[in-house]
Amino acid sequence: MLNIIICGAPGCGKGTQSDLIVEKYALKHLSTGDLLRKEIGEKTQLGLEAEKFISLGNLVPDQMIIDMITNAVNALPANCNGIILDGFPRTVAQAEALEALLNSINKPTTVLLDLRVDDEELITRLLKRGETSGRSDDNLETIKKRLEVYEKSTAPVSDYYKNLNKYAAIEGMGSVEDIFVRIASAIDSTK
Ligand code: AMP
Repeated sequence: MLNIIICGAPGCGKGTQSDLIVEKYALKHLSTGDLLRKEIGEKTQLGLEAEKFISLGNLVPDQMIIDMITNAVNALPANCNGIILDGFPRTVAQAEALEALLNSINKPTTVLLDLRVDDEELITRLLKRGETSGRSDDNLETIKKRLEVYEKSTAPVSDYYKNLNKYAAIEGMGSVEDIFVRIASAIDSTK
């Protein structure tokens, strides 16, 4: 079973690369951002609460996210090949909760892939995405806030996985295809 975490600053290409990973390795894609946007679209209590944090570029509180992911992991079919976690964990507290959850069901994390992209390129990509995404958080002010939050809260998650010897940095600049070649080689070298 492959349990892969794809992590990196907003705009690093996590979603695009997750789709390619799903296709090649037949994994189940769990994106906390997508799950939250679905809740927002359906105007659920969780969605309405989460939207207040998301629109300001802040992280949604850990416990809300941990509960959401625990439910999603527990709902996986028995014959699942593995998961690709996209946008989670984003704090060390979330990483600790995830490791406890996956170890308790004997399906430990395989590797965290850290997609590295320059800030300037991230801002360009997110502003371009904002022209069509309709997302409340793809505007310059919120993008800058999200990059700050990333450095402060999410970058330490990389150290957590480095200490577990489950970390691979991936150069995230260049074409989608070239980046995917690097990702596939990092995944294959865990086998
Ligand atoms: P994303 O689509 O992954 O960029 O997520 C969009 C927004 O959803 C983030 O800026 C956060 O406000 C919120 N979010 C997504 N995943 C998490 C998470 N693991 N922890 C806290 N907030 C999250």
